[in-house]
Amino acid sequence: MTATIIDGKAVAERLRAGLAGRVAALPFRPGLRVVRVGDDPASGVYVRNKDRAALAAGFDSATIALPADTRESDLLALIARLNADPAVDGILVQLPLPPQIRADAVIEAVDPEKDVDGFHPVNAGRLASRQPGLVPCTPKGVMHLLREAGARLPGARAVVLGRSQIVGRPMLQLLLAADCTVTVAHSRTRDLPGECRRAEILVAAVGQSELVRGDWVAEGAIVIDVGINRGPDGKLRGDVAFAEALPRAAAITPVPGGVGPMTIACLLENTLEAAIARRRLPS
Ligand code: NAD
Repeated sequence: MTATIIDGKAVAERLRAGLAGRVAALPFRPGLRVVRVGDDPASGVYVRNKDRAALAAGFDSATIALPADTRESDLLALIARLNADPAVDGILVQLPLPPQIRADAVIEAVDPEKDVDGFHPVNAGRLASRQPGLVPCTPKGVMHLLREAGARLPGARAVVLGRSQIVGRPMLQLLLAADCTVTVAHSRTRDLPGECRRAEILVAAVGQSELVRGDWVAEGAIVIDVGINRGPDGKLRGDVAFAEALPRAAAITPVPGGVGPMTIACLLENTLEAAIARRRLPS
């Protein structure tokens, strides 16, 4: 068997086109503000891509760039202004932040109704208690890709590698809500290959280049690789050894061109959802 390669770029393009159509039908432009502190080059590229995609889909998007020595109190004051601004539907503070700023304090300062990253504890709690709320973009994008790949989720054995606040944990909640039987494996898991081999759906989000070898992948599994790791040769690699997994999996995402493009598309989806919910429009 050779796996179907799940084309995240194409899925993301379709999602963005659908969102652009819905935005065009609104009597206003949903407002997104991305706040960037310092000049981390990787974040710079990412933030520019977000801005470009948001503007192309008809959103009112702008990036607010602050110097690396910004004080936490000044960032919190900016967030308070954005929370109060009726034209702003979504606020995203790009992580990582410089060491003088506590990321938790910043995440908690964002109005949960405008928290388009879905990182606020209120939104994490809503997700865990199956209430409507804003869902973190990357795991939300993974769910779109699983559906595109034709995954039969109810009852499926799903294994999530990684338990971070932004990927692994919300991934667990989303798969559970879709009636999968979910295992979350992590750095303290005893038999990582054995856990992975049981997976019909394997989501890798560890940040370790090609940790998941081909013989960790069950025949016919759907493999979603969230990892983005830059090798010494400058190339991007996932958490899964792609060439080894290809003959065993039924479907697999490439890196790049898999999960990455979905994250930005889902950020726009969240901004539209936030705008509709906050302005009390029918969805
Ligand atoms: P993180 O460092 O916060 O968490 C990594 C998790 O992996 C931890 O829970 C840890 O327990 C687990 N882990 C680490 N080493 C392990 C090992 N050897 N065996 C088993 N488990 C191990 O990372 P994160 O923010 O969740 O990101 C994970 C990866 O996904 C990174 O490569 C990151 O760049 C990528 N990422 C991609 C997108 C995207 O848009 N595609 C978005 C977010 C993160």
